Amino acid sequence: MFGEIEGTGFEVIEPDFRACLIGHARVERLWTGARWSEGPVWFAAGRYLLWSDIPNNRILRWDETDGSVSTFRQPSNNSNGHTVDRQGRLVSCEHLGRRVTRTGHDGTISVVAESFEGKRLNSPNDVVVKSDGSVWFTDPSYGILMDYEGARAESEIGACHVYRVDVSGTISIVADDYLKPNGLAFSPDESLLYIADTGATHHENGPRHIRRHVVNDDGSLSGGEVFAECSNGLFDGFRVDRDGRIWTSAADGVHCYAPDGRLIGKVLIPELVANVCFGGARLNRLFICGTTSLYSVFLNVNGVSPV
Ligand code: MG
Repeated sequence: MFGEIEGTGFEVIEPDFRACLIGHARVERLWTGARWSEGPVWFAAGRYLLWSDIPNNRILRWDETDGSVSTFRQPSNNSNGHTVDRQGRLVSCEHLGRRVTRTGHDGTISVVAESFEGKRLNSPNDVVVKSDGSVWFTDPSYGILMDYEGARAESEIGACHVYRVDVSGTISIVADDYLKPNGLAFSPDESLLYIADTGATHHENGPRHIRRHVVNDDGSLSGGEVFAECSNGLFDGFRVDRDGRIWTSAADGVHCYAPDGRLIGKVLIPELVANVCFGGARLNRLFICGTTSLYSVFLNVNGVSPV
């Protein structure tokens, strides 16, 4: 289980990436058997990880205490990205439900967002919760473009935006100049919001980058310059570590960017990677959703605790 798995490894591009690695740590394959793995989220209190297997319409659960994997929820409404809010509750994007939901401590599922100005959302993809309790999510059209990971439908809104739901439940658009907004994450102090655009999936020469916005006190965004262009595949989901580095999915594994935008290294994975998250008691273990499999690697960096 802990031996070198073919196709895994590390690529040091800039010397400062070495300090992120543990010399003898290896990439582990924790489980395999999904069709498309996405949306990992760590629950510290329960010592387990949830993630989506979107086409199989299920949320899986990996248990740190014994390494077992079970089905957490099926059907899952083709859930995609997840996060955990400040109260430790699961917040989920659903392709089929075309909504963002919250799972309460008693297991009750409630709706966070499902429409904007009376029109149904497309298919929420990824979500983050800010420390003030606001919920920020992207709404590309992947879940309504085909029946494989949602249900084919016309977009009622006719565009793919990034939204914020404040604690009163009011939903507003925070970015309307994306083709396919996808992963998103705040910088450790929440002064910046990074958002991926995977427009290249459906637009020739379309975007395959992460943009960086300044988060204003009133909840609006400014700036939005391109932070990084993906050199292999697409950036889908990503996380930021405590020092502000971005650990992002790509076709050949996980790409690590310094806060100044330099690609400093890669964790190589033998499958297309869709998303990552930090977990473990010290948030120094990176969990990696690689198409059919769940991988992890211990790093000499720490994630930002969401709670
Ligand atoms: Mg995504």
